[in-house]
Amino acid sequence: MKIVKLKEANLHSFLEEISKEADLWAPVKAAPDRYKFEFIQDLNKIDTDCTRTILPPRKILLPPSINMFQASEKEYKEDFSHVSKKIIFGIHPCDIHGILIMDDFFSHEFYDPYYMESRKNTLLLGHSCWPDENCLCKSTRTHIIKEGYDLFFSKLKERYIVWIGSSKGDDLIRTKANLFEEDISDKDIKEYAEWCDQREKAFQTEINFDALGDLMELMYNDPLWEELGNACLACGSCSNVCPTCNCYNVADRPALEKKYSDIKRCWDACTLESYSEVAGGENFRKKRADRLKLFYTHKFQAYISKYGKPACVGCGRCVATCPVDINVKTVGKSLDGEKVDAFWKRLSKEVTK
Ligand code: SF4
Ligand code: SF4
Repeated sequence: MKIVKLKEANLHSFLEEISKEADLWAPVKAAPDRYKFEFIQDLNKIDTDCTRTILPPRKILLPPSINMFQASEKEYKEDFSHVSKKIIFGIHPCDIHGILIMDDFFSHEFYDPYYMESRKNTLLLGHSCWPDENCLCKSTRTHIIKEGYDLFFSKLKERYIVWIGSSKGDDLIRTKANLFEEDISDKDIKEYAEWCDQREKAFQTEINFDALGDLMELMYNDPLWEELGNACLACGSCSNVCPTCNCYNVADRPALEKKYSDIKRCWDACTLESYSEVAGGENFRKKRADRLKLFYTHKFQAYISKYGKPACVGCGRCVATCPVDINVKTVGKSLDGEKVDAFWKRLSKEVTK
């Protein structure tokens, strides 16, 4: 792997150059403590200090609603209007792992041209990050990344170590080769090693993910799920913010005055009641407890048995988002026999009232 160096002061010149050929997306501040990925028209808006964005970068690859087909009485045409050349800058290791999980899922057994066309046209430029109390990626071993990116920017004092992960990444560097230096000094190596060491120590939350697959099976009928189901609001937010959730619904949008009607594809969530409803009104997971079991079986157990890793990359978005504190941290710790979070303290007070 080739490694180069970039002065922090030269970052915007580089991003300006590469954004001439593709739509540039990056994290920007959306509210005092909230960030989102946005199509960048003003480089000064880019904020690389964010810990996590509200929605994961999958929203750029596969937006919440896309048109799959235009259909008339006589024919249908596939619609790939959501696909364009894109560069996503500022993706953290956990989110790159999330995209690798989506790549696996959509490129093999269930080949999905809508995702894959978008993916083939998108370059990933990762950026180093610092954990907060909600980050679980050290437990899922997704806090570091060795593949899946085109470039990865590790921030040091006033400069970046830039890891080149693909030939397309190398091509990007060549568009402004004069900005980059090839000599990595002993001082750079020392500073990088110290940064890695301090970051390892900065993680505040650990969960034993290795045990969760077995515990999920052993505790499938545990009263825990009823307690969680009673508290869950069935809002679907945990699925919407998760970088590895990929369920969707398809709906006809007939246009009586136009030649073609639209066949739309929209994000769906297994935690919503309508998700498991079938023709005739039957619903196989009417209970919220059953839907939560499905979500956590997918995250902790089913994906491991098929792909050898959990379908959770520890991004902490469900921890930061669920309005009633049901998340990978509270559920994972409970399965492991520990009900210590604020959620469980509150729930036990509510139950004993
Ligand atoms: S389950 Fe929660 S922590 Fe894990 S990847 Fe999804 S949103 Fe992130
Ligand atoms: S677990 Fe939380 S975020 Fe998920 S559906 Fe229930 S209330 Fe909403």
